[in-house]
Parts: sequence; structure tokens; C-alpha cells
Amino acid sequence: MSKNYKFKLKEIPYPIDGLEPYIDAATIDLHHNKHHQAYVDNLNKALDNYPEYQDWSLEKLLTDINELPDKLRIEVEKHGGGVHNHDVYFAGMSIGNNEPKGKLLEAINEEFGSIDEFKDKLKKAAAGIFGSGYAFLVKDKDNKLSIIQTSNQHSPLSFGLTPIIALDVWEHSYYLKFQNKRADYIDNFIKVINWDAALDRYLA
Ligand code: MN
Repeated sequence: MSKNYKFKLKEIPYPIDGLEPYIDAATIDLHHNKHHQAYVDNLNKALDNYPEYQDWSLEKLLTDINELPDKLRIEVEKHGGGVHNHDVYFAGMSIGNNEPKGKLLEAINEEFGSIDEFKDKLKKAAAGIFGSGYAFLVKDKDNKLSIIQTSNQHSPLSFGLTPIIALDVWEHSYYLKFQNKRADYIDNFIKVINWDAALDRYLA
């Protein structure tokens, strides 16, 4: 009946220690296999009682979130957002492919002046989030780029924006290794941005 439900945890495209020494294996293990998995499980649980929405894709659930009944909308906002944001985050890191290129590099230069200015703005956005949330590089319907800050697990899709790069700054994404030093984690994240994945998301 359904192509999507029940949703499954997407595998990460590298071994659990594949981002060492920038992002440590213990953090990836906990973050992906426990936190990300929990969002998948809770999204499925939320949809159990709503068969009429079980054939919606995750992207449609988040994009058309205001069409959902109130109770389901609140759950999809938290857990659907949590699944999709983490899908973008984990697939958006790699060792290798760490140089921006192609049409995304051109668009970043046009919008932010240079790649260094872009990185600086992304760092500041991520460092400035109070509490739990994300800094995202997003594009709007006209392909215009911007950096946004979100709280909790709100998906950019619910604001009509497509996430290109997701930088998770929930404490679970860095506290084991970096403790309170969020800025150090952000610097390390920027070193492992998978720019091929970002380009694919920009062009899609
Ligand atoms: Mn997270």
C-alpha cells in the first residue's frame, strides 16, 4: 500500500569511524544509531493512527505540514523533521569531496562574496543558536541561497525552503568529544562538509 511507511533509518554512507578525527566514532554511533533511529521510530508511531497519510513521502509530510490534522502535525514537526534533518546532516559529511565546486560554488560566491565569507557566516549562525537547533544553507524556489537558524527539529521544507547543508548543533552532536566547545565542533564540521552531496541537493 505504501512506499514510505514504515520509514526506515537511512544508512550513513561511511563507516562509523569514517569521519575521524574530526567527528568521533562514539558520537556518530550514538547520534545515528540512537537519536536518529528514535526519530524514525517515533515518526512511524505517530503515523500508526493515520493510515490516510501513510503513503505520503517524508518530503511531502514536511512540505505540506499545514494540511495535517493538529495532533499529527505536531508529531511530524518534531519527528519527521528530526528524520529529514538528520538524513541531510549525515549524508552531508565525508572525508574527501571537501572542496566546493560547480554551480553551487558560483552561487555561493555570488550570494556571500567568497567561500570564506560563507563559512564565516555559517559558523556565526551555528554558534549563535540558543539551545537546540540547526544552521542550514538553504535555497528558495528561485534557487536563491541563504543561511537560516532553526530551533528544535523544524524542517526548512515546512518554510518552503530546500536544505542544502544541515549543521546540527544539538548538544548530542558534539558533547561527548567537544563538551561545551561548540565552536570547535563547528570548525570540524566545516572541514568534513561533503560538497558533492551539497551540489546534488542544490541542483535537485
Ligand atoms: Mn542530532
